[in-house]
Amino acid sequence: MNQFLPELQEFTKDPKIAYFSMEIGIANNIPTYSGGLGVLAGDTIKSGADLKLPMAAVTLLSKKGYFTQEIDERGRQTEMPTLWEPSKQMTLLPAKVYVQIEGRDVAVQPWLYIVKSLTGGSIPVFFLDTDIAENSPDDREITSSLYGGDHVYRLKQEIVLGIAGVRMLYELGFEIKKYHMNEGHASFLTLELLLRYKRPIEDVWDERLVWDVDRVKNICVFTTHTPVEAGHDKFSYDLILRVMGELIPLNVLKELGGQDNLNMTLLALNLSEFVNGVAKKHRDVSKNMFPGYEISAITNGVHSYTWTCDSLKRLYDKYLPGWANEPELFVRVDRIPEEELWAAHIEAKKVLIDFVNSETKAGMDYDTLTIGFARRATAYKRPDLIFSDIDRLERIASGKIQLVYSGKAHPKDDHGKWLIEKIHVIKERLKGKIKIAYLKNYDMEKALKLVSGVDIWLNTPLRPHEASGTSGMKAAHNGVINFSVLDGWWIEGHIEGFTGWAIGQSPTETTVANDVDAMDQRDADDLYNKLEAIIIPMYRGDRHTWIRMMQNAIGKNAYYFNSHRMMRRYVTEAYIR
Ligand SMILES: *Cc1c(COP(=O)(O)O)cnc(C)c1O
Repeated sequence: MNQFLPELQEFTKDPKIAYFSMEIGIANNIPTYSGGLGVLAGDTIKSGADLKLPMAAVTLLSKKGYFTQEIDERGRQTEMPTLWEPSKQMTLLPAKVYVQIEGRDVAVQPWLYIVKSLTGGSIPVFFLDTDIAENSPDDREITSSLYGGDHVYRLKQEIVLGIAGVRMLYELGFEIKKYHMNEGHASFLTLELLLRYKRPIEDVWDERLVWDVDRVKNICVFTTHTPVEAGHDKFSYDLILRVMGELIPLNVLKELGGQDNLNMTLLALNLSEFVNGVAKKHRDVSKNMFPGYEISAITNGVHSYTWTCDSLKRLYDKYLPGWANEPELFVRVDRIPEEELWAAHIEAKKVLIDFVNSETKAGMDYDTLTIGFARRATAYKRPDLIFSDIDRLERIASGKIQLVYSGKAHPKDDHGKWLIEKIHVIKERLKGKIKIAYLKNYDMEKALKLVSGVDIWLNTPLRPHEASGTSGMKAAHNGVINFSVLDGWWIEGHIEGFTGWAIGQSPTETTVANDVDAMDQRDADDLYNKLEAIIIPMYRGDRHTWIRMMQNAIGKNAYYFNSHRMMRRYVTEAYIR
């Protein structure tokens, strides 16, 4: 019997794959995520449970969440802690491990949440918590705010996630056959494994032989998510020594994590047998960033059942029974009569428009072509690209489109905050011509309303910054057509005029690739051209072709870009090799 909880017995009797992620978005009332990375982690675990994969997951409790966003009438964002009560969702286990931080022993306790699937599969998720009476007031805050605080705070969080995470799994009686690091935040787990696998030899001529790198490598899997150099967490060795101490000798650590400073991505690369990017293009970009490493591509997917709205669920149940656990059945989407698909879409659109009108003064209507844009508000996502030439937009689209926005800017991302203000200014400027709404406090619930209730899902990232992107996959699950820059997953999902529309240059063209202004110009131009010549006329005059494209979004995009397919690939390519 498991000493901590009889319920755990079921999980500790067989070896597991341990999935580590700084953020996990499983449900709207567990606010321990900030965006795509966390929601992907949640979808990973849900598909893992549906497919009855032997997994366990580790993350941080983030007791104050990411943050709750307020926006005033001028578009200025303020942040408040998200208050939630873990005990209403999960169980605090009477297990405890310690990690050394700044020379202190910091206690860490786990909360257990079990993701249960209707198929009978289930996966335990451990939310690590340092808010324990015996810890100092500062240490009690380590697991409070997701991506909050400074560099030192982040380092402490990553120590808890990686090192305390592995210790916790041992303490709870788990046998782990693979460790999967979802992004570099979890890389410190490799150091704890090196310590555990240390060879008991003395007086070796080369002390590096004590460290069994190959054995650690053999059981580690790493998924990188960051296509730009600046996005990788790096810490100076001075800071590492001060906060973490010399867990393993500095010269060994430098060989694994980089000579100048500790690069969490490099550490994971050097200690993982299988490494992947989250789309084919992202794999190529990552290989250029880290020459000499073997990097595969497993393109992301989304959890079909989670990301399909009620009206479409009913339709799929009727025509494609079993779809939720076998998304391949979307290949038979053409069984669904056009009028029924359209009616289900209109039902979802009404839910969204009613919600927008209850939250804002936008006064939107059900008939107008509705374009959605929602994701983290940050510069590379270019939420303002569609406003590059406001007069032109007005000429093309006045009275013909309405726009729904949502998204939070990181508290320290001034440019992201400025973008939210800019959209508010333009909203006033276009009043009476193009209705624009900005929904505050974007979360998973609003995401589902948005990706299912708009007609077009717009995505305009600056290449190659969008490693994959997943919201467009959610849109496809609801028959919502993507209109997007060719970056990340869309390079693989896009068939022009069939599954959706591209914006700007093709991925193989390099004419303007290095000039950001030229790229903005080219992309905006293409966006306007297609909106004017193809999208608005088709929506208003050729409903039949429009619905065919909706079907293709489902039959070609949702069919492939789901997390069931993704997890089957992780199993065959990463977990059991
Ligand atoms: C899916 C999702 C995202 C990711 O959106 P991208 O457009 O892929 O960046 C971000 N936030 C929430 C709440 C989501 O559900």
